Amino acid sequence: MSGKPYQWVDETVEEMGARFGIRATEKLLDEQTPYQHLEVWRTQHWGNLMRLDGVMMLSSLENFVYHEMMSHPALQTHAAPRHVVIIGGGDCGTLTEVLKHREVESVVQIDIDEAVTRAAERFFPELTAHNDDPRVDLRFEDGVAWMRNAPTASVDVIIVDSTDPIGPGTGLFGPDFLADCHRVLRDDGIMVGQSESPFYHMPLMIDYHRAMRDAGFAERRSLLFPQPVYPGGSITGTLARKTGSLDEIRPLAADVATRFYRSELHRGLLAIPPFMQEALGDV
Ligand code: SAM
Repeated sequence: MSGKPYQWVDETVEEMGARFGIRATEKLLDEQTPYQHLEVWRTQHWGNLMRLDGVMMLSSLENFVYHEMMSHPALQTHAAPRHVVIIGGGDCGTLTEVLKHREVESVVQIDIDEAVTRAAERFFPELTAHNDDPRVDLRFEDGVAWMRNAPTASVDVIIVDSTDPIGPGTGLFGPDFLADCHRVLRDDGIMVGQSESPFYHMPLMIDYHRAMRDAGFAERRSLLFPQPVYPGGSITGTLARKTGSLDEIRPLAADVATRFYRSELHRGLLAIPPFMQEALGDV
C-alpha cells in the first residue's frame, strides 16, 4: 500500500482521455485466471470492489442499480418469462434479481470464468446467497459457443451481462452471437445486452444496434442509467424484441423488492434522449 493507509484504484479510458478512481484500503484478491486479471479491493466508502483486467465491475454499494436494470426491464416486458438465460454475470447479482420473479421456472447462467463466481461467494456473499435455488443451472463455459449449440426457440429472455468487448467478452457483441440469440429465443422472446456508455462508446452502440437489426430483432431500445463506478458514470442496457413492442410493460409484482427499478422509471427511460436517438438514427 506504498506506506499510505489507502491506495487509489483507477480505471483509465485512454481513447477518451479519462480516468476514474476509488480509494481502497486493502487488496483482498489478486488472481490471474485463465481468462482475465481478477482483483477485489476493500474500499473506504464503496464496500468491496471488483475489477477485471483493470476495468471496474461492481462495488457493494451501488451494484443494485446495474443488476436491477439488466434484469427487470426485460422480464417486465415479456408476458410470461419462464426460461431465462444469463450470459456472463459471474458475480451473480443479475441472477439474484431474476430469481425474485416467481414466474421464472429455470435460469441457466453461462460465465466463462468460474473464478469470478468463487470470488463473489467470498467477497459479495449477498449476491450468491440464492445460487442453490433449484431453478438455477450454473455453467462455466464460453457463452458464444453455448449459444451456438443451444436449441432453437427454447428461451424466453436472454440477458447478456458481459465484460467490455475486449478479451473473452469480444464475441458477445458480434453479429454471429446476436444472430444465435435471435434463433434461440422463442417468437415472443426478448434479449438485453450490456452496451456500454453513449459518451464513451457510441460507435460500439451503433454497431450493436445494427447487428441486432440484421439478426432480425424488430425493435431495439437502449436504456441509459447511472453506473457510479464506471468512468462516465452511466451505461446502457439495450433491449431487443423479436416481435411486438418494447413499450408493453407489466406492473412489477408486489413481492419483487427493488431499490432502483420501478415501472414509471422504466417507462421514462424508454424515451431515448435526443442525442442518442440522433446518433443511432434509423439503425
Ligand atoms: N457489471 C459488469 C460490467 O459490465 O462491468 C459485468 C460484470 S460480470 C462480472 C461480466 C462477466 O462476463 C465476467 O464474469 C466474465 O467472466 C464474463 N464473460 C466474459 N466473456 C464471456 C464469454 N465469452 N462467455 C461467458 N461469460 C463471459
